[in-house]
Amino acid sequence: MKAQLEQIRANALEKLQALNAEQELEELRVRVLGKKGELTGILKQLGSLSKEERPVVGQLANEVRAAVEAAIEEKRAALKAAAQELRLQKETIDVTMPGQLQEIGKIHPLTRVLEEVKEIFFGMGFSTVEGPEVEYDYYNFEALNIPKNHPARDTQDTFYINDNILLRSQTSPVQVRTMEQQKPPIRIIAPGRVYRSDEVDATHSPLFHQIEGLLVDKGVTMGDLKGTLEVFAKRLYGDEVQVRFRPHHFNFTEPSAEMDIMCFGCGGKGCRMCKGEGWIEILGCGMVHPNVLRNCGIDPEEYSGFAFGIGLERIAMRKYNINDMRLFFENDLKFLQSL
Ligand SMILES: [Zn+2]
Repeated sequence: MKAQLEQIRANALEKLQALNAEQELEELRVRVLGKKGELTGILKQLGSLSKEERPVVGQLANEVRAAVEAAIEEKRAALKAAAQELRLQKETIDVTMPGQLQEIGKIHPLTRVLEEVKEIFFGMGFSTVEGPEVEYDYYNFEALNIPKNHPARDTQDTFYINDNILLRSQTSPVQVRTMEQQKPPIRIIAPGRVYRSDEVDATHSPLFHQIEGLLVDKGVTMGDLKGTLEVFAKRLYGDEVQVRFRPHHFNFTEPSAEMDIMCFGCGGKGCRMCKGEGWIEILGCGMVHPNVLRNCGIDPEEYSGFAFGIGLERIAMRKYNINDMRLFFENDLKFLQSL
């Protein structure tokens, strides 16, 4: 029996040397020390031994058990350490591996042009005012000298919430709201979204952006208007740009005009870009109508002023040479990154 015990110890220690997985270790433990294990088998036979032999064999059995248990624990620790080491090796940072590229966004072309336009007018002493996009009919039309049933409303058909509330078709209501609250001198620009019930095509969208400007003070003339807008055009498009004013009609200004810039494509001779005109319209403007001043509680005998409205998309299309305004709204990354 002693020989058997020695054999068990020797076998176990030898197998331990060879194995290298925690599961094998557990299997070995069960085979040797488990309830039905080799060592337990021997202990069960102790009763058949003589009184003299029993303690001797019993002690040896305990020694074997202790030795095997200790060896198993040692091996278990060694396996754990090896696994840890392996994991660390796998996690080592490879500094030569190519990195993951972070996509850096760009400011939308409309926002960029808007910022540029704002800068130009800030430089001339204007400040920015904003107003509601859901607006009363009164501020969008009536206060601007466009009474109910006036044909001018047809060109600015918008979306109605009810008879008196609509989505603003222009940023001009901001001018009215400003004049109601603030007495001259007034020098503001009002950028923002406006709405028209237009079908979407290359030059129309039910949503677009305007930047309106208003200057009211004593003794303001058409000369001030022309000077201011000419400076604006030169700052935006370059000193060599030429402008001209054509008479026009708006209800809220008198006299009214449209400002054109000479076509970059042909220098005024006429080409496809300017549809043969040689000039390209970029904004509408005029002297604020006395009725509008009166509607806002400003005495037209004492004060005068000019106003202008710029289509942001139109300016951006000229600037980036784009012929379809839908591109601004379609979120096509290829297009946006190309500008
Ligand atoms: Zn041209």
